[in-house]
Amino acid sequence: MPMSVLDPRSIITLSALMGLVMAMVLFFVRRSYPRKLQGGLRLLAASPLAWFTAAGLYGLRDVAPDWLTVVLANLILLLGTLLFSVGLQHFFQGWARWRLWAGLILASTPVVAWFTLVEPNYGVRLLVVNGLLCGLFLQQIRYLMQQPTSFGLRFTMVAMGAQTSVLVLRMVSVAAGLAGHSMMEPGLLQVVYVSSNAMSVQMLTIGAVLLATERLRREFEHVASHDSLTEALTRRAVLELAENELARLQRYGEPLSLMMLDLDHFKDINDLQGHQQGDAVLVDFANRTRAVLRRPDQLGRYGGEEFLVLLPATDARAARVVAERVRLAPPSRPELACTVSVGLTTALGPDDSLDAMLSRADQALYLAKREGRNRVCEA
Ligand code: GH3
Ligand code: MG
Ligand code: MG
Repeated sequence: MPMSVLDPRSIITLSALMGLVMAMVLFFVRRSYPRKLQGGLRLLAASPLAWFTAAGLYGLRDVAPDWLTVVLANLILLLGTLLFSVGLQHFFQGWARWRLWAGLILASTPVVAWFTLVEPNYGVRLLVVNGLLCGLFLQQIRYLMQQPTSFGLRFTMVAMGAQTSVLVLRMVSVAAGLAGHSMMEPGLLQVVYVSSNAMSVQMLTIGAVLLATERLRREFEHVASHDSLTEALTRRAVLELAENELARLQRYGEPLSLMMLDLDHFKDINDLQGHQQGDAVLVDFANRTRAVLRRPDQLGRYGGEEFLVLLPATDARAARVVAERVRLAPPSRPELACTVSVGLTTALGPDDSLDAMLSRADQALYLAKREGRNRVCEA
């Protein structure tokens, strides 16, 4: 009887062990991640651990009492799935909704207990537990759809979608009178069903690892390309963007403007009010400048108190308007006020280079300083 090799109990036991390995992988992966991601990852690692425990208990069916191998096992399975949902939400936004689902799961336990101990009915138990699992997965898919997309995200959503379909199909089979009498019943239907559950534990854990890895990569990219004080782009990042923009816009014959900004008498702010106040002025300047720029414009920190702003698809006249807006942007608090001189330039044509533009902007800035500061000059 070849089917006996693939009996539900072996599959469940095997999947319990794999769940344990997966949980351990996630726990160790978590330790190498930045602190702010660790909270979500700990919960995501706890869910395969819960799934492992549930599968372990299912595997003891007919050996240990039913309240343990059915009632408690189902409760742990559901709570483990809720943990995954809470972990995902923590991972993306640092907080999570969970009370409603925890309430529903706890409320389902006496129902499952009744249909295990008083009036044993595998079909009703399947409907109750699978119904809740479907709800939990659908809610997570909906939540993931609102997050920035990535391979790991799509992978996780597909795994959840596939598992939800299997759960729904199993419920349909119950309605069609194919419930069977227990999880351990041999037969193709039950073997496929149990294997799919085991598979999705692996898939969801892999999904969590992928999500975490992608997030880590984004964090590193951000750190590498942004200035830690002002959150403006670093000099290298903004120059790289400028090269790309120039090449792209010249291909389409669109203009590109850029401006070089230098805070006026910044040394005096440091000398008279201290370096920390100088830092606060820099941060506030970067914030108010970003606030008046449009979406495609980019702010980079070129040097100490010098900034570079890229204005794609902006001709000289429009750039002048933006430059004045930046110059006149009010500080968030009066003590953070400072004036700025701006050197402005626009690409002259397809042969213009970034070096030439930077040098013109520099000359214009120099002119603005010489003419008395707190003004915009063009070159
Ligand atoms: P000017 O109007 O001619 O530009 O005068 P200035 O005093 O702004 O010119 P200068 O370039 O001589 O001085 C810039 C000062 O900016 C010197 C440096 O100590 C300070 N600075 C550079 N980076 C930082 C920083 O990250 N934080 C603080 N607080 N000060 C900085
Ligand atoms: Mg300077
Ligand atoms: Mg200066």
